Amino acid sequence: MEKPFSVAIDGPSGAGKSTIARAAARRFGFIYVDTGAIYRTLGLAVRRAGLGEHDERGVSELLPSVRISLRYDGEGGQRMYLGDEDVSGSIRTQEIAMYASGVSAMPAVRAKLLEMQRSLAREHSVVMDGRDIATVVLPDADLKVFLTASPEKRAERRYAELRGRGSEESYEQVLRETLRRDGQDESRAAAPLRRAEDAVVVDTSELTLEESIEAVCSLIAGRLGGDGGE
Ligand code: C5P
Repeated sequence: MEKPFSVAIDGPSGAGKSTIARAAARRFGFIYVDTGAIYRTLGLAVRRAGLGEHDERGVSELLPSVRISLRYDGEGGQRMYLGDEDVSGSIRTQEIAMYASGVSAMPAVRAKLLEMQRSLAREHSVVMDGRDIATVVLPDADLKVFLTASPEKRAERRYAELRGRGSEESYEQVLRETLRRDGQDESRAAAPLRRAEDAVVVDTSELTLEESIEAVCSLIAGRLGGDGGE
């Protein structure tokens, strides 16, 4: 079997990582791995256990009993499971995002989820998105992209997405949460969000979604030797 090809996409929340990574994976026939969803699933387990998002001791005790798995549907869509329950919808709230951000700062949590992520990239060609994919999970990725956009643009997009799902949060609230989560993700000691030295920066502030997808796909095609695009 040919060695799998790996693309690492990191960046702050709301830069468009998951939409862009999913589209790129589909175009090249790779698997899309949304690592944020894995942390969110753990965040949901912690919330359901009645623990606080910063309760490191409680979370450490809970960890061995948490069963997280991911499955792929026919279209390459990733579904998250907590035990036997499909929680793919339940993890998409701002509250669970904050839990994910809280628990993801804990070294024991990162250690538990690291091997799960690496084994996916050993078995398949992947586009994997997260915060520490290029720096920690796949330091030898074939292509590293740091996808970013201004906090205001990211909050605007998140706000529109949440509105679409019926949430009543105001733009100001979403911007505040975005800045708070950025701060938490960048300042933590364990695997903070930072750009790998050899990552290509793609700033999507002034790009449409299609332009952003094209930018990432042409980088992938370039690394594949120019024969991977459409
Ligand atoms: O990307 P998403 O918003 O779903 O991620 C939720 C949270 O999970 C992030 O705020 C971040 O704290 C954490 N995360 C992480 N490492 C990753 C992916 C997500 O710490 N690779």
